[in-house]
Amino acid sequence: MADAAFDAATCIGCGACVAICPNASASLFVAAKVAHLSTLPQGDMDKKRPAKMLKAMEDEGFGSCSNYRECESVCPKEINVSAITTMNRLLYRSR
Ligand code: SF4
Repeated sequence: MADAAFDAATCIGCGACVAICPNASASLFVAAKVAHLSTLPQGDMDKKRPAKMLKAMEDEGFGSCSNYRECESVCPKEINVSAITTMNRLLYRSR
């Protein structure tokens, strides 16, 4: 669990994923944070956190993910798009 949490925690917030995305989506960045926090063994994350973070992303004008997968190809920390899958799974479970 610690290794999985650390993999997601290595995101440095550089913004390369946003810059390359045709939708200007920050989904990989947001998903890395959600995947990190949801994997930590200290306790359950607020179940509404993924929805709140995605709303904040949209409120700031970032686009939505439509699976171009350009983000993971440029991420210097090799954050995988599976983090977005994790985020979406948590999002749908919370509804
Ligand atoms: S490119 Fe990778 S390290 Fe940079 S903000 Fe996006 S997910 Fe984080």
